[in-house]
Order: sequence, then structure tokens, then C-alpha cells
Amino acid sequence: MTTSMHHAETPEHKLKYLLSYVSDHSPYYQKVFREKSIDIDSILIAGDLVKLPFTTKDDLAAANDDFLCVPKSRITDFVTTSGTLSDPVAFYLTDADIERLATNESESFKCAGGSEHDIYQLMTTIDRRFMAGLAYWMGARKIGAGMIRVGPGAPFLQWESIQRFSPTVIIAIPSFIPRLIDYAIANNIDFRSSSIQSIICIGEPIRNSDFTWNELGKRITSQWNVKLYSTYASTEMGAAFTECGEGKGGHLNPDLLILEVVDEDGNAVKDGELGEVVVTTLGVEGMPLLRYKTGDLCHVYYSPCACGRTSPRLGPVVGRKQQMIKFKGTTIFPPALFDVLDMVKEIELYQVVVSKNEFGNDEITILLPMHLQTPVFKEMLHSLFKSRLRVTPGFDFITAEELTFRMYKQEKRKPEKLIYI
Ligand SMILES: [Zn+2]
Repeated sequence: MTTSMHHAETPEHKLKYLLSYVSDHSPYYQKVFREKSIDIDSILIAGDLVKLPFTTKDDLAAANDDFLCVPKSRITDFVTTSGTLSDPVAFYLTDADIERLATNESESFKCAGGSEHDIYQLMTTIDRRFMAGLAYWMGARKIGAGMIRVGPGAPFLQWESIQRFSPTVIIAIPSFIPRLIDYAIANNIDFRSSSIQSIICIGEPIRNSDFTWNELGKRITSQWNVKLYSTYASTEMGAAFTECGEGKGGHLNPDLLILEVVDEDGNAVKDGELGEVVVTTLGVEGMPLLRYKTGDLCHVYYSPCACGRTSPRLGPVVGRKQQMIKFKGTTIFPPALFDVLDMVKEIELYQVVVSKNEFGNDEITILLPMHLQTPVFKEMLHSLFKSRLRVTPGFDFITAEELTFRMYKQEKRKPEKLIYI
């Protein structure tokens, strides 16, 4: 099985192999094919996938282990999804799946200008049942580069490692970079002449939909002459969409995923339009997925890129479908709130709290540190939100200690900038 999977060459071969593989091994898809009377032999090209139903996050959560195609004894790594809005879902990887991750990440690093001459400094979690950190480590190893695994936070240790080992690339959640810069300034570290040349930015957008820098991207690039590359990935796809040097969206790796971007009714959107990202995973042995709805909303671009690649590109994640907030008659996605807050240099910590009021409508409250609670500052925030988003959320001020405690939960992998109550 594994052998034929890796020797399948054309996308059509890979698709055909995937369908026969899941119909032989996936209890979940066996049931779907039976109940919907699906003839897999009628699905020959990516365009035929419309004959299959979507797989949703709820399907995955409800029938979690039914997606598994191999006996549990063959699992090499046990992963869980981040689960911002739901319980984390288990994801099982076989040895071949880990190798697929390594391939994905090495291709992704190459797309972002990486080579065996680079040294990567990893500022994200590599354990805690997290897939990405592991993928980065293996990807660097596969291209023959080096890696320094510092992990999240710890600015002192980050700078000490940079000065000691001269890494060329940082891999980080981009909102950590301003903290890193502030620490350098406060401690007289000459960060501008450090060995760092580029930053691979994961988990948060650094660009607006027109590919100009968003506030976070501006804040970083205005202070530090480094090249930023955005990458978008998820546990379920086990693959990444990473920007090339052109910075015009993350490239699909067509060997690993079939991409669809669909509207509310499930129909493909046109070039340049916004839709939900749907993926079919190729070459996955443990938990392959067919037409998996990620919930992420992106613009899709099918025209060839100036870098020479012809694979489709995804723009920055505008928001998650389930995180859409209806507030005072306006539709808002959390990243738009983060973007306004990131504009304000005085704001180092914040947490956005989304709740339902007595009428079932969404309410937004932003928690900020107490020392910012002055009439002048509040007035500035009100007018800033009004001009950028047309509406103003509520503000609550608590001590910096309390806010730090609420954001940096021990059991979470990244700071909680957004919570639902
Ligand atoms: Zn490109």
C-alpha cells in the first residue's frame, strides 16, 4: 500500500489511489460511500470530487477514530488539533505520514527562499501534541539546514541563541516579534545587525487582502530590515501554503493536497474571490480526508505567480467561518480587531472577549492593562475603532498580571488573544 502510494505520479493517479485506499480502509468513508451510493470509479479528476459530500470539523469530531485507516499499533505520533472553538480532535500519523510532513516542510522552506545553508531558530512549541513544530524540525533536517529549538517566549534565550549560533531564519508567531524587538531595545542588543535575514510567520496574518502589510507586518518591517514570509497550515491538511519571495499568497503544494475554495453553497469561487478553503489530502496513510472544510476564509488566485510557479495561491486568512462576529449590525472577524489593536504601540497585551448578550447578539469586550486606563487613551481607541471598523467594542481594564495570567495559560500552546464566554 505504502509503496504504491509513493510511486503514484500524476494527480489523477494519486486521486484514484486515495479513493480506493479510503474505500478499503476508512470506516468513516466506507459508510459515506455506502449511504450516498457513491461509485468511486466515476471520480477520475479533481473536478469530479463534487460528487462527494464535504467532510466537516463536526464529522471529524463526532466520528474521530472512524477516520483512522490503520491499526493503532501502526501510529507513530499522536497529535491533537488546536480546538479554539471545540474540543481538540485526535490526529494519528504513521511513519509514512511523518515523512510526508518532512517533505511538505522542506518544500515549504524552499519556497520561502531556504536552503541547506540556513540555520533556523524555532520559536514555536515542538511538543504538547503539536504538529507544526515537529514538521519544521524535520523539514529543516530534510533540506540539510540546521535548527535551534528554543521554543516559544523567553526573549533572553532567543537573543542569546541568535548571538551564539547565528541563525539566518526565525520561525515564529508574528505577534511575538515586536516583543523580541522591544526586549532587544531595552537590553541594548543590536538586533539590526544580527544574523537574522528572514522570518517565517505562522498562525497569524501579516498582510491585508491586497497583500500590503497589515499593522503587525508594518510594525515589524518598519523596525527591522528582515524579509517576512507568511505560511498557512493546519493539522488536518498536514501541509502548508507558504509564500514565495513575491509575497502574493501562499502556494499550494499540488503533490500533497487538492485545493477547492467554495462559497456558502459549496460552489467553487472564481479567481481572486473569497471562499472557504476545502482540501483533499494526498499521500496520507493514517487519516486521509476527502473535501475537508477547514472553516478558513481566504481569497484564491489561480493565475501563474511571478516566481514561475503555476500552483494556486491563497491570500491571508480573513477569518474563520465559525468566528464570524455579528456586532451592532456589522460582520467582523477577529483578525480585523487584532489588526486595530496591533496599530497601537502602547498596547503590548490584550484579550478579545466575545460573548452573547441577553438578546442572543454578539458582544465584544477588549481587556487591556490597567495603566492604559486614561480618558485620553480611551477616547483615542474609540475613534480608532470607529474609523477602522465603523463600530467600537467595549473596553475593560485589569492588572497586567491578571491579563498575562488569562492570556498565557499553561495548557495552551499560544497566547489566547481571543476567548468566547
Ligand atoms: Zn510565487
